[in-house]
Amino acid sequence: MTLPTAEVLIVGSGAGGGIAAWVLAEAGYKVVVLEKGPWLTEAHFSNDDLKHGYRDYMTQDILIEPRTFRTSASSTALVNHANPLSRCVGGGSVHYGAASFRFAPDMFRSASLFGVPPGSTLVDWPITYDDLEPHYAAVEQAVGIAGLAPGFAPRPGWGSYPGASVQPPANPLAGQLGLRYSQQYPIPPVNQRYDGIVFRQATDALGYHAYPTPCAINTMQGFQGRNACVNCGFCNGWGCPNGAKGSTLATVLQRAVATGRCEIRAECCVIQVVVKDGRARSVLYVDRNFNIQEQPAEIIMLACSAIDTPRLALVSGLDRYDSSGMIGRNLTNHHNPGVSVTITDQPPTHSWDNYRGVWNATSIDDFVDLRQLLAANPQTTGNPVYPRGGVTSMAGPSPGYPLGVGGPISLAVGIAKTPGFYTGGGNSFAPHGGWGAGFLNSVTQVSGRQAFIDAVCEDLPQTTNMVDLDPSVKDVYGLSVARVTYNNHPNDLAVSAAMEPFLVAIGQQMLKAIGAQGTAQFFSSVAGIPLPAPTPLTSNTVAPRFLVHQHGTMRMGFKASDSVTNRCGQMWGVPNLFIADGSLFPTSGGYNPTHTIEALAHWVATCIAEQGADILKQVQGGTPNTASPRPAPSVAGAAAAAAGATVAAAARRRRRRSDAAPPDAGT
Ligand SMILES: Cc1cc2nc3c(=O)[nH]c(=O)nc-3n(C[C@H](O)[C@H](O)[C@H](O)COP(=O)(O)OP(=O)(O)OC[C@H]3O[C@@H](n4cnc5c(N)ncnc54)[C@H](O)[C@@H]3O)c2cc1C
Ligand code: SF4
Repeated sequence: MTLPTAEVLIVGSGAGGGIAAWVLAEAGYKVVVLEKGPWLTEAHFSNDDLKHGYRDYMTQDILIEPRTFRTSASSTALVNHANPLSRCVGGGSVHYGAASFRFAPDMFRSASLFGVPPGSTLVDWPITYDDLEPHYAAVEQAVGIAGLAPGFAPRPGWGSYPGASVQPPANPLAGQLGLRYSQQYPIPPVNQRYDGIVFRQATDALGYHAYPTPCAINTMQGFQGRNACVNCGFCNGWGCPNGAKGSTLATVLQRAVATGRCEIRAECCVIQVVVKDGRARSVLYVDRNFNIQEQPAEIIMLACSAIDTPRLALVSGLDRYDSSGMIGRNLTNHHNPGVSVTITDQPPTHSWDNYRGVWNATSIDDFVDLRQLLAANPQTTGNPVYPRGGVTSMAGPSPGYPLGVGGPISLAVGIAKTPGFYTGGGNSFAPHGGWGAGFLNSVTQVSGRQAFIDAVCEDLPQTTNMVDLDPSVKDVYGLSVARVTYNNHPNDLAVSAAMEPFLVAIGQQMLKAIGAQGTAQFFSSVAGIPLPAPTPLTSNTVAPRFLVHQHGTMRMGFKASDSVTNRCGQMWGVPNLFIADGSLFPTSGGYNPTHTIEALAHWVATCIAEQGADILKQVQGGTPNTASPRPAPSVAGAAAAAAGATVAAAARRRRRRSDAAPPDAGT
C-alpha cells in the first residue's frame, strides 16, 4: 500500500537517526521514522545478563537476521552477530556504555598532518572540529552529558555534587590537543569507582593526566524530568531501567514526538530505497503485520548504522548512483590494547569492588597522539608509521561485549567453559575452574578483583575492510545479508605493541598503589584475529568476532570521485538522500564514536533544515541522474516472496520477546 508522502523520512532511530528526528521535527518538518526494532520502555530493561546477553532481547537474532564475518576476501565468511548493537527504538544508544567524548581537532585532518600510510585510505574530513563544535555542544545539552568542560566553572546549580571531592580535574591536555569548548556540560560528572580512583593515583604517579570521562548519564535527579543514575553496574550492554542513560530513546526522541510532527513506526523493517531518475522517491518496508508498505518522501535519510546503511544501499542498488565505488568500503572499528589488572593475594584481602557504578568514569588522553611518548622512549617496539593511539580509560566490570555479557551469569559461564571458548569481554580472562570446588574457587578469585584498562585506538581505513552483500546467506525477508570483511592494518599492530609497556606500567602501578599482589596482563583486540573456531548457528551462542564500534562505509568527502556523500551527508549522486550515522566517518578517530555520530547527525539535520527548500528544488527540477545503465534490483519481489510464512514466523518470535514480554520478566 502506498502511504501519504512524508516531508522527511528517516530509516533507523538509533544514535544518529534519533538526533536527526529531533532537530528536523523541532525545525518544523513533518518527520516519519521507520525503525525495525520494537519500542521498548524502561520497564522492559533489567539487570539480567541471561536475557540481554544470551537471549538476544535487544540485539538482532542471528537465526532471523544473520550477518557474516570474515577476515579477508579469501577466507570463509561465518554467520554470527558481527555487530551486536541494539535493534530497538533508540538503537545502539540504548545499550551503550555512554562514554561520550569529542574527537580532537587533529583527528579531522590526519592525512594532512601525517601523510597517507601505505595500504591505507587515510583522508581528511571535509569538516573541521570548529564546524562541529556547536553541534557537539547542542547534543551535550540535549542528551544530558555529564562532565567537566575545560576552562569553565561548575554550573551554579551543581552545588557540591556527590563524589566531587574525588573527581579528577577537567581534561588537563585539552589545550594541548586543541579541544575548545563553548560551554560547560549541563550536569556534573558521574561518580568515580574505586578502581578509577586508583587508576588516577597510578596515572598521576606516572605523569599522565586523568580526567572524568564525559558520559551521557544523568547525575542530577530531576534534570530533564529524569531519574539520576543509581550506579547499578549493568550499564554497558544493557538498557537503563532507571531512565538515567541519555539514550535517544530517553531524551531527544521524546522531544521529537512532543512536537506533534514526528511519527515513529516501530517494528517496520525497510527493505528497499526506491530511486528513480537519480531521486529517492520512497522506501518499501515490512510492517509489524507483515504487510509490505510503500512510504514516499521528499527527503530520505538513512541512519541504520555503518553495517546496515551500506547493506540497505547495496540491496537497493544505490551503487548505480555512486561514482566513487566506496559504498561499504573503508569500514573502521577501532582497535583496543588494554590490560587486565588482577588482584591475586590469598586469602583475598583486596578488591576493586567494581561490580557497581557506570562503566567508564576515568580517562587519560596521554596516548591519543603518541609522537612525544615515542620520541622520549626510542627503545619502544612497534614503531608505528601513523603514531595515533587513543583515549585510555578505566573500563568497567560490565564489558558487555557482546551485548549484556559481563554480569554474574556470563562470568559463571566463562569460568565453567573449557579454555578457548570465547565468552566475551573481560570474562575471557577468568580462570577456568570447571565445576564444583574449582568453580567456587575461581568465582572467589575473579569476582570484583579484575579491573580493565582499555584504550580505544584509531584503526587505519582500508578499502578491503568492508560491508558487502553475502552471496549465499539471506535473511528472513529473503534479502542478502551484510557480509563484514575486516582485518587490521599492520600499523594497528604496531601501535598496540608500542603502547603495551606503558599500559602494563599503569596496571602495575595500580597494584602498587593499594599494596596488593597481582598481575597486569596485556591484551589487544588486534591479537583476536584470526578467528577462533566457528560459532554454531544458535541465537544464544556468543559470536567469536564482532565489531563494537563501526564506521566509515558511506564516507563523506570533498569530491564525488572518492566519497559517497558531500560534507552535509548528502549523497553526491542522489541529492535528496542523506546519511546520518557512523557510516559517514572518513576516519575512526581515537575516541569512542557515538558523541561524534550524534554531533554529525545534528550537523546533517541542520544542513537540511537550512537548505531544505533548495534541496527540494533540486529534487523536483533537477536533471535526471543516469549514472549507470544497470537496472534497479527487484528487491520487492524477493521480499514479497519471503513475506509469507517465514516472515510471519520470525516476527511472531520477535514479538513474543518484545511487547508480549511482561516488563522486567527477566528472560
Ligand atoms: C556493548 C557496547 C557498548 C558501547 N559503548 C559505547 C560507549 O560507551 N560510547 C560510544 O561512543 N559508543 C559505544 N558503543 C557504540 C555505539 O553503540 C554505536 O557507535 C552507536 O549506537 C552507532 O550509532 P548509529 O546511529 O550509527 O547506529 P545505531 O545506533 O545502531 O542505530 C541504527 C538503527 O537503525 C535500525 N535499523 C537498521 N536497519 C534498519 C532497517 N532496514 N529498517 C529500519 N530500521 C533499521 C536499527 O534497529 C537501529 O535502531 C557501544 C557498542 C556496544 C556494542
Ligand atoms: S549504571 Fe546508572 S545509567 Fe547505567 S544502567 Fe545503571 S542506573 Fe542506568
